[in-house]
Amino acid sequence: MTESILENLKLILQRIENACFESNRNPSEVRLLLATKTVSSENIKVALEAGQTLIAENKVQEVKEKYESLKSIPHESHFIGNLQSNKIKDLLKCEISCIQSLDRLDLAQKLHQRLLYEKKTMEVLIQVNTSNEESKFGVHPDQAIEFIKAVSQLETLKIKGLMTIGLFSAETEKVRMCFQLLKNIQQKVISLHIPNVLMKELSMGMSGDLETAIEEGSTIVRVGTAIFGQRIHPDSYYWNEDHK
Ligand SMILES: *Cc1c(COP(=O)(O)O)cnc(C)c1O
Repeated sequence: MTESILENLKLILQRIENACFESNRNPSEVRLLLATKTVSSENIKVALEAGQTLIAENKVQEVKEKYESLKSIPHESHFIGNLQSNKIKDLLKCEISCIQSLDRLDLAQKLHQRLLYEKKTMEVLIQVNTSNEESKFGVHPDQAIEFIKAVSQLETLKIKGLMTIGLFSAETEKVRMCFQLLKNIQQKVISLHIPNVLMKELSMGMSGDLETAIEEGSTIVRVGTAIFGQRIHPDSYYWNEDHK
């Protein structure tokens, strides 16, 4: 297992580098985030010890389970799943530096209340549903700007950019349109100069589509399968609120 993780990591870093080269970008502009849902702490450690610095989970339960065993290795943790309000408190105990999946105002308000109480702030990305698939979370593209304006009023939440999951399709051009849509929203938001809003990060691209995402301006690619192997459940299992 260790061998294959290291080998896969090397391949992914090579893919990122090639994609940057193809699109005239500096590889230092694109961060690799390890999507570690269902991956054991032991296997995550292999990647961290090989020099990786950024991991993310989809479920608070998994964050909690792995937190203690990973604590001793310096790294940064983001959250990329559908967050339920009643789990905010637990999540805040686990040193998460960014929630990439903010997409509901009630969640933003509850997060803000809790952060105020704990005298903390939190970096967030706004998740946008660029593929128009019902199975996916994220604010509707047409509502993204209004949503960002509303969240910007909550001073404990520091908006750093946008996140999306592209369409799952073998048709690259359709996938590309999702990433272009995210980029367009980013540009619009920048032109509005909304106080308390930065649009630095575009978190887009996964195992199957990271090249296209990098070509369209991604600054964070989130990779799971291509490094740690296939998961036993389909992704909808991790994205659906009904499964705990
Ligand atoms: C699982 C997951 C990823 C990584 O997907 P892979 O196809 O395994 O690379 C990226 N983003 C989110 C939100 C995920 O849930």
